[in-house]
Amino acid sequence: MDWRRLEQDLIALRRDLHRYPEAAWTEFRTSSLVAERLERLGYKPAVGLETVEVDAVMGRPSEEEIDRHIGRAVTQGGNVGWIEAMGRYPGVVAVLETGRPGPVVSLRFDMDCVDVDEDESPDHRPRRENFASVNPHLMHACGHDAHTAIGLGVAEVLIAREGLLNGTVRLIFQPGEEGCRGAYAMVQKGVVDGSDYFLAMHIGGGVPSGTFGLNSLGYLSTTKFDAHFTGRPAHAAGAPHEGRNALLAAAAAALGLHAIAPHRDGAMRVNVGVLNAGTGRNVIAGSATMKVETRGENQEIADYVYERAVEVLNGAAAMYGTTVELERTGAGTTACGDAELVSLAGEAVRALNCFEEVVETVRGGGSEDATWMMRRVQEGGGQATYMALGSDIAAPHHNGRFDLDERSIVPGVRAMVAVTERLLNSK
Ligand SMILES: [Zn+2]
Ligand SMILES: [Zn+2]
Repeated sequence: MDWRRLEQDLIALRRDLHRYPEAAWTEFRTSSLVAERLERLGYKPAVGLETVEVDAVMGRPSEEEIDRHIGRAVTQGGNVGWIEAMGRYPGVVAVLETGRPGPVVSLRFDMDCVDVDEDESPDHRPRRENFASVNPHLMHACGHDAHTAIGLGVAEVLIAREGLLNGTVRLIFQPGEEGCRGAYAMVQKGVVDGSDYFLAMHIGGGVPSGTFGLNSLGYLSTTKFDAHFTGRPAHAAGAPHEGRNALLAAAAAALGLHAIAPHRDGAMRVNVGVLNAGTGRNVIAGSATMKVETRGENQEIADYVYERAVEVLNGAAAMYGTTVELERTGAGTTACGDAELVSLAGEAVRALNCFEEVVETVRGGGSEDATWMMRRVQEGGGQATYMALGSDIAAPHHNGRFDLDERSIVPGVRAMVAVTERLLNSK
């Protein structure tokens, strides 16, 4: 393999994806280019509705929004044929069947961006080198542009080495990781069913360039939901007693949610990130919407904080004579790598000699919905781990000044390939 050529190619690809970021469930351009490239490499990719269970989709924009995003994807150079084949849902899965007996190894790469404006200052490299986001309020500020490029690099190397491999590899390009929205619907479609091994990997995350982590721990189990309060609008001076104030109910709920008692047994989080209410200065607010997330270090703590949140929301709604309805928009669970797989992965990555340091465990931040895939594989008797690809970053993840070290991309491909090959040839 000509690694220098691959590096140039994948950096160019990463920069192209960086320039045209797409948020959860709108990755039509990205998915279409992934499918196009996989097909060129010799795969027969499944896309869109073939890869996600519609009933299990969480936090997808409205159909009008989807129309707008499909239109933009086409304008910005998406592959129209592949976009049509998706049936309004992004997502790509490609399978490499060697035809020889061996394990099934599933690899997952996420493709979506973050809802944040990219920094405009000239010292921000993507701006300076002209690959900053052209889509307002959207930016690859988590490195999933690099993940997608790495996935395509892995696809290219594996198919070139197919003759040396046994078993089956599934390459899963997932929409909607941000907000933990996409993985669950893919799991429900069965994309990881029957896997003996499952691998995912995140770039950056506080791990420096030259370091590789085999097992990311500490992802918090989370529920994301919108709370819709319904009250009764009325004239604020003429008939205030006839109104039922949804704004006050939501405001009381926001304070109450942030006052949920901590749990003795471990970390928990609750955040009200958005609160919109009311229609006019002289109108008792008839409706309010809040965006909320709860998290816990383990499932028990996560259930505790979610159940308390529901009580607080219902209590606040009742206090003001309003009602509240909850709509789940995302969810993730906890993860822990399997010792045997972690150890095999460690041998494979160390043998590459392309990392200064290979560490057993790293602390994963926030939440991650590949945990659903890990759990499904582990429950089916397989093994899974979530790895960490070190990369120096210019600013924290989800910040408009985020940028990553592109020299980590090829080591990421090599690590993923090395572990996959070790697993395929292990049985
Ligand atoms: Zn992120
Ligand atoms: Zn991320």
